[in-house]
Amino acid sequence: MNMITNHLPTAELQALDAAHHMHPFTDANGLAAKGARVITRGKGVWLTDSEGNQIIDGMAGLWCVNVGYGRKSLAEVAARQMEELAYYNTFFQTTHVPAIALAAKIAELAPGDLNHVFFAGSGSEANDTNIRLVRRYWDIKGKPWRKTVIARWNGYHGSTMGGGSLGGMKPIHAHGGKIEGIEHIDQPYWWGEGGDMTEDEFGLARARQLEEKILQIGPDNVAAFIGEPVQGAGGVIIPPRTYWPEIQRICDEYGILLIADEVITGFGRTGNWFGSQTFGIRPHIMTIAKGLSSGYQPIGGSIVCDEVARTVAEGGEFFHGYTYSGHPVAAAVALENLRILQEEHIIEHVRDVAHPYLQERWSALADHPLVGEAKLVGLMGSIALTPNKATRAKFAGEQGTVGFRCRERCFANNLIMRHVGDRMIIAPPLVITPEEIDVLIARARTSLDECYAGLK
Ligand code: PLP
Repeated sequence: MNMITNHLPTAELQALDAAHHMHPFTDANGLAAKGARVITRGKGVWLTDSEGNQIIDGMAGLWCVNVGYGRKSLAEVAARQMEELAYYNTFFQTTHVPAIALAAKIAELAPGDLNHVFFAGSGSEANDTNIRLVRRYWDIKGKPWRKTVIARWNGYHGSTMGGGSLGGMKPIHAHGGKIEGIEHIDQPYWWGEGGDMTEDEFGLARARQLEEKILQIGPDNVAAFIGEPVQGAGGVIIPPRTYWPEIQRICDEYGILLIADEVITGFGRTGNWFGSQTFGIRPHIMTIAKGLSSGYQPIGGSIVCDEVARTVAEGGEFFHGYTYSGHPVAAAVALENLRILQEEHIIEHVRDVAHPYLQERWSALADHPLVGEAKLVGLMGSIALTPNKATRAKFAGEQGTVGFRCRERCFANNLIMRHVGDRMIIAPPLVITPEEIDVLIARARTSLDECYAGLK
């Protein structure tokens, strides 16, 4: 076989890809028919594809490239670490400097007494760890019956068996099933499901479903509640302001562990280091991944509070871990990424460009005839496409693919936006400038216009 490089013609790369590469979350038939877009380079918020198109990445890859593409110092740190110690594990009472330094840095940045880190290779793995960790915690506390974890419909916590089960996406459950001991309550999606309630009333009503579920299962059987501060993959559902305080009250009242899945909202996305700070949540455990290394290396983890970590330690050995827990190269790169976020004041930059610059331009999209709602927190935003703004109706039947069509128009206009049903979402690299925001908004508007024209 010829060497496969960027220099091969796109069609040849696409044919090889369709023949041998099984893609995640992709319809393989579509791939064979149309071919995947081949991305070849990245710099800042910009991607280049194999046809030389300059694409603005409105999704930071998969919500992860927080510091932007093409950072030389991250490559240098990785190379140096590979030469010095490419791999060693953290099992059986061994450790190494990158894992020590990264855990200490995360403990410094995380709020409250979240001072301990269990490393994983991804967000899904970290959530699998969380299931085992909270069950182990209650075992040691002498309450082994406290096993159930409550999560939300349309939440996303990964696609391993544990992560996929915690998530509330039925198509994922349908492929491979769901583990036992996970229960779901409804999501706090006011625009889509709030009916006649005010946003505040709806936020309280949806949070109180947690209390109802706890009482139904029996408080002594519930180990934990898990939620994303802002549902990302579910469509950037920003909860009503009444929601999280009520969830916090209920967890406190029933002594239930609270897990904030910060895989997307961590490391600056909402304008604070963690989404929990933006929404006033006091979790016992945080799930992290993505922005931890800005996607330059695969790494995730669970940040654990003093009490849970102490209890698990009292129980002796926890029979759990991954070959790549605290991988030295990933840890060194993550540490350098945190240095960049901090020293370049990127979280302050998020606050500066998001409010009011992006906020004003994003909200203005609600004037478009296709758009019912345009919402944003920090640098994650969504718009809801609707045939009727007044009734907040959904597109029906054949038209139910409007989100997909709109995403295709974005692609054609060299803007990456994602669709979740008929919600369009953005989460660009956190280093996006006002000028680049103007490009993003202009391309989004053109794409909406083209999509709307295609419906008539
Ligand atoms: N949790 C949340 C909130 C996520 O958004 C994701 C991925 O999108 C995950 C967990 C899973 O992370 P990973 O894909 O790294 O396994």
